[in-house]
Amino acid sequence: MAYHALDTNTVIDYVRTRPALSDIFAPDVKLTAREVGDGNLNLVFLVENADDPTNSVVLKQALPYLRVVGESWPLTKERVRYETQALRKYNEVAPGLVPEVYDYNEEMSTLVMEFLRSHEIMRKPLVERKRFPKFADHISTFLVNSLFFSSDLYLSGVEKKQLEATFTNEHLRKLQEDFVYTNPFKESEENNWNPLLDDLVQETRSNAELKIALAEAKHHYTTHAEALIHADLHTGSIMVNEEDTRVIDPEFAFFGPMSYDIAAVLQNLVLNLLSHYAHTPDKTERASYQKYLRATIRDIWTKFAEKFDATWAANNKGEAVPNDYWDFSGGEQAFAQYRRRYISRLLRETALHGGAKFLRRMMGIVSVWDISSIEDPELRAIAERAAIRIGTRWALERNDFFSIDDLLAVVQEETDGIDI
Ligand code: ADP
Ligand code: MG
Repeated sequence: MAYHALDTNTVIDYVRTRPALSDIFAPDVKLTAREVGDGNLNLVFLVENADDPTNSVVLKQALPYLRVVGESWPLTKERVRYETQALRKYNEVAPGLVPEVYDYNEEMSTLVMEFLRSHEIMRKPLVERKRFPKFADHISTFLVNSLFFSSDLYLSGVEKKQLEATFTNEHLRKLQEDFVYTNPFKESEENNWNPLLDDLVQETRSNAELKIALAEAKHHYTTHAEALIHADLHTGSIMVNEEDTRVIDPEFAFFGPMSYDIAAVLQNLVLNLLSHYAHTPDKTERASYQKYLRATIRDIWTKFAEKFDATWAANNKGEAVPNDYWDFSGGEQAFAQYRRRYISRLLRETALHGGAKFLRRMMGIVSVWDISSIEDPELRAIAERAAIRIGTRWALERNDFFSIDDLLAVVQEETDGIDI
């Protein structure tokens, strides 16, 4: 079937033609479809059995252009293949933390997966001050398993290089390279920021030390093929409820630095913390929720570090440092020390990439809904200025950071003076 974009009518007939879905929908059931996508890039349909809504799937189809901009911005449809491959890998190494994949069709650029009916995109409930007691545990497991099991620490050199070769994803990577690391920090027509920040934006763009740090971040991002990373792991790519957490939308996935994914999660939680200066006028309620967010950030990193270390110690099967390499007197301690150094490096890199991400959200093509939904520009500027100061310091002071409390101390110092 030659490629054509589906709509809520044609998607039903299309689903019936897919052999892999014949186990899910019996031939005689009545199906209904609606669009659920709120994304920038793709079509997303919910297809369900009219008599039994628990019998349902989500179908995602790539358009040959960037949906938010229109046909004038072509974009390769191949991204659905990368998303499918990444979801399949995640189902293998982090089962239960991503939707199940039912079908993929290269010609039509469609991916059919489990419909997460009782979950919501995390950004919204975070603005509503909802708490997710199991989130830190779940997301740290996702990070450890997806990153460790796709790295040279676990795979043989041949396995890792073969897997890496299936994730070139050069076109979507180019988008991130431009929109995260380059364009926000120079004149570029799609950039957009709160006019009340003009002074700070100009200052940021001409801060020589910072520009060098951001250049280093970009170089690291483009060249450090450490593990399969999601590469867009913000709170709009995470669906949650009180019991369960699922990561969606890995269409940007490629082999890059582990710290990029960790940074995305932590930095989005800090941006949400800042957004409450506007969203939560009651000071006691605000302080209590911000404290919860800081504790969650600390918990995610601490659990990540513990689980990464334990997973590595128990599964050291990769090309990097085989067990017999440590076969000497004192070798066990040396291996433990190497693991500590590795994880400590990940923390510093998390600060660097997290720093770049704060800045790009404040002065690049697209902010985050937590912040952009603040209507009063004066109030929004309070959160945005703090984000720029924190981002600048995370990037510049990264080599002085030895624990997650060092990163959180910067957040504390840059918000201490805010009194509204
Ligand atoms: P895009 O790549 O266009 O950003 P997403 O994968 O983020 O698309 O999906 C867009 C929206 O569709 C999500 O924000 C979510 O609301 C909904 N969605 C996507 N996948 C699922 C799913 N498996 N179950 C339920 N809702 C989903
Ligand atoms: Mg997407």
